[in-house]
Amino acid sequence: MLNAENYYSLEMDQEYMSVSQFKEFMNCEAKAYALVTGEIEKADKSAFLEGQMFESIVTGNKELFMSQHPEIISTRGATTGEIKSEFKKVLNAADKFMQQPFLTNIVDSCEKQVILTGEINKVKIKGCLDLFKTSDCSIYDFKCMKDFKEQWIKEEKAYAPWYYVYNYPLQLAVYRELVKQNFGKEPKEIGLIATTKEDIPDIEALSFDYGLLDLELEKFADLVPRFNDIKLGKIEPIACGVCDYCKLKKKIEKFEEIK
Ligand SMILES: [Zn+2]
Repeated sequence: MLNAENYYSLEMDQEYMSVSQFKEFMNCEAKAYALVTGEIEKADKSAFLEGQMFESIVTGNKELFMSQHPEIISTRGATTGEIKSEFKKVLNAADKFMQQPFLTNIVDSCEKQVILTGEINKVKIKGCLDLFKTSDCSIYDFKCMKDFKEQWIKEEKAYAPWYYVYNYPLQLAVYRELVKQNFGKEPKEIGLIATTKEDIPDIEALSFDYGLLDLELEKFADLVPRFNDIKLGKIEPIACGVCDYCKLKKKIEKFEEIK
């Protein structure tokens, strides 16, 4: 049974597809498969912890988070006893958020960390909603970003807004579908609340058009059966050839001919 304790476990990652797992498969099927079989572990633990820290502070659980994560305090050099610099940036970003009554009111009116399951194109899906307003099924998600700069997308040869770079509309489209399946109605509002870890933190609150989310869900539904078949060992994963995992596995067997 999926719950808050085992949500991120390997066992539940094997049983359910999550959006973050789906994004791993989009980046590199071979690496995503290695993660889901337990061959390798997620490398971005610090980023995960930063997200957890931000969420804990703005939902009023700062003390609990700090007591559970002594590793965020420096134990070396002149900064001994102080919060490590990357986590200080998260503190600043959370402060920025706390100065916005429009946003803190939303937090107060919502359930936190709501776990939902559902099915998309016959694949079992899990999702954890940062904020969920039971009265009208609205969904809100927190992001703590490096900055809000556009980024170059190699495959599309174009710059894209930060939220597209990380596929956040796709994530929210899946969450919206999970809410529809569990509660039988559309969320009233779907919002992304983001701050930055810059010296002077920036903040944005974006809501997404449902037509746009329909397209994102279609993309997810199209690809998810293939990714699930890879998980089940029915299809061989394709290696991207350039990610860290692929570099680790790289073995030269012949010369690559340049013409
Ligand atoms: Zn790869």
